[in-house]
Amino acid sequence: MVFEAVGAPLRAVELPVPQPGPGQLLLRVHACGVCRTDLHLLDGEVEIAEPPRILGHQIVGSVIAGEEEATDGQARRVGVPWLGWTCGECVYCRSGRENLCIRARFTGRDIDGGMAEYAVADARYCFPLPSEYPDEQAAPLLCAGLIGYRALGMCGEARRLGLYGFGAAAHILTQVARSQGREVYAFTRAGDEAAQGFAMELGAVWAGGSEEAPPEELDAAIIFAPAGALVPLALRALAPGGTVVCGGIHMSDIPSFPYSSLWEERTVRSVANLTRRDAREMLALAPRVPVRTKVSAYGLDEAGTALDDLRSGRFTGAAVIVP
Ligand SMILES: [Zn+2]
Ligand SMILES: [Zn+2]
Repeated sequence: MVFEAVGAPLRAVELPVPQPGPGQLLLRVHACGVCRTDLHLLDGEVEIAEPPRILGHQIVGSVIAGEEEATDGQARRVGVPWLGWTCGECVYCRSGRENLCIRARFTGRDIDGGMAEYAVADARYCFPLPSEYPDEQAAPLLCAGLIGYRALGMCGEARRLGLYGFGAAAHILTQVARSQGREVYAFTRAGDEAAQGFAMELGAVWAGGSEEAPPEELDAAIIFAPAGALVPLALRALAPGGTVVCGGIHMSDIPSFPYSSLWEERTVRSVANLTRRDAREMLALAPRVPVRTKVSAYGLDEAGTALDDLRSGRFTGAAVIVP
């Protein structure tokens, strides 16, 4: 399923099976998660420099060719995340911040992704997946899970945690946060009873609309919804010293707000991409929690429908493409 231009639907195209270059693996795709970033790519809010491009950056696949020793004759299962390549040389790469690499290439944006039957990936960015997870259930861990995990790390020891936008990332993070003894306050679109009920089922202590004030002041909040108007709302819900983390790659403009909302050492920051360390840590943590992902599966030719359903909030949890 190929992205050709901003505003155009993905198109089913027959392409040759890609060939792995040095250091790359050829994967047969078993599942590929759908992410809000895919909508930003479709809409041109995040640019694809060289279309056509196959989207999809939460790839679960088995290694069928490439530079890899076949140890037991079994095709090894791996996951491929958004971060697809880094230079290893820039100031960010050399200081443990490869998520900020100035030459980074991203899966499903700069490198063909997983909304396809086959994909090629740099072996250094392919991760073993916990065996407890079937393919479909593993896919959402690879972006919703990994970037959610990185965002949670920016919340420090926050005990009362607000999550704005209760989609794929929040449903994973709620389970992780609870296992760490945190309280989760879930904020959804006003009146979205399905999402609020889902949050409570997963163990949130409170769920309500984004405009509502939570019953307690929050120590931190993560905003996954791409709405800048949520930033001042989340700041107002914070206790002194609290942090608002913006977890998405794109957000509408943030309205101005009084300095008093930021006063008392409150912080607003973003989280960008992920590092391989985030991936290793989260993929080890998920089965220990254990995180259970709720997925809606779509065929490859239904990728456009999956994206539409994500845009309209027609499912809870995560959408996964199964070629
Ligand atoms: Zn993503
Ligand atoms: Zn770099």
